[in-house]
Amino acid sequence: MESIGVLLMCPMYSYLEQELQSRFNLFKLWQQPPSKIPEFLKSNQRTIKAVVSNARVGADAQLIDSLPNLEIVASFSVGFDKIDLKRCEEKGIRVTNTPDVLTDDVADLGIALILAVLRKICPCDGFVRSGKWKDGDFGLSTKQFSSKPVGIVGLGRIGSAIAKRAQAFGCSISYHSRTQKPLKHYKYYDNIVDLAKNCSILVVACSLTDETRHIVNREVIDALGPRGILINVGRGAHVDEPELVSALLEGRLAGAGLDVYEDEPEVPDPLLRLDNVLLLPHVGSDTVETCNSMADLVLANLEAHFNSRPLPTPVI
Ligand code: NAP
Repeated sequence: MESIGVLLMCPMYSYLEQELQSRFNLFKLWQQPPSKIPEFLKSNQRTIKAVVSNARVGADAQLIDSLPNLEIVASFSVGFDKIDLKRCEEKGIRVTNTPDVLTDDVADLGIALILAVLRKICPCDGFVRSGKWKDGDFGLSTKQFSSKPVGIVGLGRIGSAIAKRAQAFGCSISYHSRTQKPLKHYKYYDNIVDLAKNCSILVVACSLTDETRHIVNREVIDALGPRGILINVGRGAHVDEPELVSALLEGRLAGAGLDVYEDEPEVPDPLLRLDNVLLLPHVGSDTVETCNSMADLVLANLEAHFNSRPLPTPVI
């Protein structure tokens, strides 16, 4: 394995980097000055057989085309929207991801966002720290979570885990997905506008594709309405961000909890000044336990591929 070239696209979890370093011939792309990358890829194209990507930096057609011996793209993420799957398919390149092991953490974070937005956890914390409590109570500006209707966009692994948790809070669950599931306690809507109209909390947990880009647009936000809150633990591009910003500024939406943004790490400036919005830096799966499991899955996929064994978690 030590002679197999693996290209790591950007800095990742240190355990993964160390294990890749000890098992393979590791190349770190970000250590090259941008102007030298084409030359670097050309001089190592015979050796590099694997790319390790993540949710932030994938593998586009240009990269894939510049590596003629590329056999596998292993992503340290469940989402593979940054990998040109079509090009990989055309060239017979395998793609793997890290499903399941991160589901619970992302679902936990989804619930944490809901609670934090509704109960104003961050402003409350600021209130205590600033000493303002001594001048009077925080007030009754927080809203109840228990028993509110929750709508899930994408009832996949993460969406289902969020639904299960919200059910434990006594919430009714409805959802919109490509397909209706045989779940009689969850109401299915075949379009997202009707889902938004019929819930107070809309949670985005679907995969990012051409069909789901900006699936949360002005019409959906207005259907959710001035008492509704939007939670996004999917991908930033699911939401039309300028529309979200104007709805929040104009009071057409009550609040939002976001882990992901369209142009990470850029966050629209007006969001930074709103206290009905909770902003997280894309940390859905970032616990030590889950990142260890994700790293082990990346390594298991690479080792299986180069030992001609079935891939544990293939995308293609
Ligand atoms: P999954 O099990 O594949 O679920 C994806 C869901 O998206 C499925 O329910 C699917 O519908 C739905 N979907 C796909 N296309 C759709 C469309 N056109 N309209 C409506 N729904 C559609 O994936 P997962 O493991 O739950 O992960 C979901 C996403 O979460 C990932 O793709 C990733 O982008 C994001 N994520 C974020 C973080 C974070 O740190 N914030 C961490 C991990 C993952 P069907 O059920 O009908 O097929």
